[in-house]
Amino acid sequence: MVAILRGVLPPDRDFISLHEPRFAGNEWAYVKGCLDSGWVSSVGAFVDRFEGDLAAYTGVKRAVAMVNGTAALHICLMLAGVEAGDEVLVPALTFIATANAVAYCGAVPHFVDSEERTLGIDPARLGGYLTEAAELRRDGSHNRATGRRIKAVVPMHTFGHPVDLDPLLDVCQRFRIELIEDAAESIGTLYKGRHTGNWGRLSALSFNGNKIITTGGGGAILTNDEDLASRARHLTTTAKIPHRWEFAHDRVGYNYRLPNINAALGCAQLEQLPGFLARKRRLAERYAAAFEGIAGLRFVSEPEFARSNYWLNTLLLDEEMATARDRLLALTNDAGIMTRPAWTLMHRLPMFSGCPRMDLSIAESLERRIINIPSSAELAG
Ligand SMILES: *Cc1c(COP(=O)(O)O)cnc(C)c1O
Repeated sequence: MVAILRGVLPPDRDFISLHEPRFAGNEWAYVKGCLDSGWVSSVGAFVDRFEGDLAAYTGVKRAVAMVNGTAALHICLMLAGVEAGDEVLVPALTFIATANAVAYCGAVPHFVDSEERTLGIDPARLGGYLTEAAELRRDGSHNRATGRRIKAVVPMHTFGHPVDLDPLLDVCQRFRIELIEDAAESIGTLYKGRHTGNWGRLSALSFNGNKIITTGGGGAILTNDEDLASRARHLTTTAKIPHRWEFAHDRVGYNYRLPNINAALGCAQLEQLPGFLARKRRLAERYAAAFEGIAGLRFVSEPEFARSNYWLNTLLLDEEMATARDRLLALTNDAGIMTRPAWTLMHRLPMFSGCPRMDLSIAESLERRIINIPSSAELAG
């Protein structure tokens, strides 16, 4: 395994991390512009420009920049009408932020299984499960066991590979459930030619330091609904009523807006995104070729309906090889090549262990078998 990875990765490096940012464009110039202007906080020209650029790139009507992806998810759920006591369908195989955002609303995550092809929610199995577990009432679907309303589903596009959204949208329509995309890992990823994050009523992006493009910390909400976008902006600007000098607020709001200095980084990073994506695709192709025909595992390639950003490249061990996972992780990390297993499934964590869930056998199998390997754009040279 170490030898195969070495064959793909650049030589003469003591340590290769999983994912590193790259600042080779206008970052210095824009940040300097920001400092020179004095506009460093959550108002400024770079915030407006970043929002415009993001909307144009993803094809949505409006983007609203946020302080991080978790905050973006929180506001998406609130604006979709998720209330305290509701349930929200969330994959068990995800980063903690997806489930935390549900909990911030006083709602309960309801964990659903994944499919091996996309590593994300399996729409067919979810539909079958809801047919048994949910009951449609006047105000939407309710969990028969708990009585709670099932208000929304949050598919997450794992490591940049999109969930099969068309059949998932059918399930949402059938059970009157809102679709909110956790597109934190999938900027640059297309599902059937349209950008991920442009399918749900609202979607969340993340620009954390380890993501495809970074603003240091940051995120955004995407939506095609002008009214929701305006409400997102208001709610995350402490619900302050715009006025030249008065400080009046019309509800409990949040201080979730992205500072201008971070947006300056974002504008520069977004200019380089097509280049990052081309490099990441080249790296993924090299990995795919290098692991072709190797017994016991396979490289995860994009599903046939997708153009993935290959945010984090992924190896999937055969079930019989799963017991070797920790040894492979140790060997590679000891050799200075950073690798990592999947996240601990959400329902195993103490704060979410009592939450409702469907059979999670595929997610449990994936948890045992996933290994992420170095994925920085610059590794493709
Ligand atoms: C990174 C990430 C987020 C958001 O993370 P922040 O660090 O808050 O920007 C949300 N969901 C998933 C799946 C992520 O990978």
